[in-house]
Amino acid sequence: MTKSYQNYIGGTWVDGSGEVENINPSDTRDVIGLFAQGSSAQVDQAVVAATEAQAVWKGYGLERRQAVLQAIGEELMARSAELGELLSREEGKPLAEGKGEIYRAGQFFTYYAAECLRQLGQNADSVRPNIEIDVRREPVGVIAVISPWNFPTATAAWKIAPALCYGNAVIWKPANLTPASAVALTEIIAKQDIPAGLFNLVVGSGSEVGEALAGHKGVKAISFTGSVPVGRRIAQVAVSNFTKLQMEMGSKNALAVMDDADLDLAVTVALGGAFGGSGQKCTASSRLVVHEGIHDAFVEKLVAGAKAMQVGHALEQGTQMGPVVSQTQLDENLEYVRLGLSEGAELACGGERLELATPGFYMSPGVFLGTRNDMRINREEMFAPLTSVIKVGSYDEALSVVNDTEFGLTSGIVTRSLARANHFRRNAQTGVVTVNLPTAGTDYHVPFGGRGESSYGPREQGRTADEFFTVVKTAYISAGDDL
Ligand code: NDP
Repeated sequence: MTKSYQNYIGGTWVDGSGEVENINPSDTRDVIGLFAQGSSAQVDQAVVAATEAQAVWKGYGLERRQAVLQAIGEELMARSAELGELLSREEGKPLAEGKGEIYRAGQFFTYYAAECLRQLGQNADSVRPNIEIDVRREPVGVIAVISPWNFPTATAAWKIAPALCYGNAVIWKPANLTPASAVALTEIIAKQDIPAGLFNLVVGSGSEVGEALAGHKGVKAISFTGSVPVGRRIAQVAVSNFTKLQMEMGSKNALAVMDDADLDLAVTVALGGAFGGSGQKCTASSRLVVHEGIHDAFVEKLVAGAKAMQVGHALEQGTQMGPVVSQTQLDENLEYVRLGLSEGAELACGGERLELATPGFYMSPGVFLGTRNDMRINREEMFAPLTSVIKVGSYDEALSVVNDTEFGLTSGIVTRSLARANHFRRNAQTGVVTVNLPTAGTDYHVPFGGRGESSYGPREQGRTADEFFTVVKTAYISAGDDL
C-alpha cells in the first residue's frame, strides 16, 4: 500500500484535506507516496502556532539556536546519500546531483549556525550631547517560505536556515511536485530542541496554500523562488499588508563565447550550464552568444557533446541527464521546440521525446542554431534541456545581446582576454557574473540574486541575508546627568 505523509503544524503531524500522488519522473509506475494537501484553515493554524513559538525562540540564547542549526546541517550532510536518492527519485536529477544538493543544503545550515554567533550591531554618539545610539537587528516574525521543485531541498534550506538563525519562525510551502524531500527535511527539523510551532510544513497547492500565505496578515515576510507570473501574483496580494518580500524568479541567462576562448573549456562550460539538471535551473545557460571567429568549431563540438549525453533514469549509474520533472513540463518543452522551428531556428540535435526502458518524462538535449535574440525562444524562460546559439561579430555585440533581456540573474563569458573578462564583469547587467565557468553553480557564503524580472527585494544567502530576515531598530539612550 502506498504510504501517506502528513503536514507538520504546531509541532504535530496532521492530515490535510486531501492527498496528491508523488510520481517518479524517471518511472511513472513508481508512486513515492501520497502527500497531504493543506488548506487555508491549516495556514491560519500554522500562523497562530508560529507567532507564539517565535516569541519563545527569539529569547533562546544564541548558542542554543546555533546548536539547532548545526545539528540539522550535520544530519543532512551525514544522510546525503539516502536523502539524495529520495530527491533524485522524485525530481529526476541524476543521483550525484541529488546527493550534492542535500550536502549543500546541510552546508547552508552549518554556515548559518555560525552566523548565529556573529550578529553584531552598531553604536554611535548622538548629534545631541550625552545621548548614545544603539543600532541592532531584530527578527521579522513569521516568515513564509514558498519554494519550487527544481532544487527542492537546497532552495528551501537557503531560506529556512537564515530565517531561524535570525530568530524568526517559518511556515514552509514546498512545490507540490516534490513533497517527499520537504517531509524528510521537516522530520530532521522536528527532532530538534525548538518550541512547537517554530517550524511548520504545509504541503498543498499554490492556489490554496500559497495564496493563503501570501495574503495573511500574520505573515510578516515571504521568501519566494519560482516563476515570474507567480511572483507577480504573490507581490500583488502581499503588498496590501505591506508584507516584506524577497523573490527569486525566472531568467534567460547568456554565456558569451569569445574567439579567443579555450575551445574545449567553452564547450564543457556550455554543456554543463545548458543541460545540468535537465536545463531546469534558473541559472541555466539558455542563450549561447558565440563570436563568429569560433562559431563553427564551437558548434561542431557542442552538438557532438549534446548528442553524446547519456539521458536516463535518475538513479542509474552513468546517467548524465535525467528526465524533466513532469508531463506538463515535457509538453511545454516540446511546444518550445515547435515554436523555435516555426521562428526559423535550425534544430541541430535533440529536442525530442525519448522512450526508454522505464516510462518517464525523457527528452534529448536540444541545440538551436541560427537564432536571433528577438525570437521568443531567446526571450522566454523555457526551463528545458534546450539552448540557442546566437552568432555575433564582436565582443561589443556579444555584450549587448547578453544584456538585451527582461531578466538579469546570471551571465558568463569564456575568454582568455583579461581585458574582455574585466569589461564583461563590470558591464554585464546581471546579479551574478561568471568568467570561464558555467552560468550555474554558486556558493553559499556570498549574495545570490538578479536584476530586472529575475529578482525583487533583498539578496539571498551569505551575510546579506540579514537584510531580509531582520528589521533594524535604532535606540536612543540618555543616561541622564546624575552621577
Ligand atoms: P512556480 O512559480 O510555478 O511555483 C513556485 C512555488 O510557488 C511553488 O511552491 C508553487 O506551488 C507556488 N505557487 C503557485 N501558485 C501560487 C500562488 N498563486 N500563490 C502562492 N504560491 C504559489 O515555479 P515552479 O515550481 O514551476 O519552478 C520553476 C520556476 O522557478 C522557473 O520559472 C524558474 O525560473 C524559477 N526559479 C527561479 C530561481 C531563482 O533563484 N531565480 C531558482 C529556481 C527556480 P505549487 O507548485 O504547489 O503549485
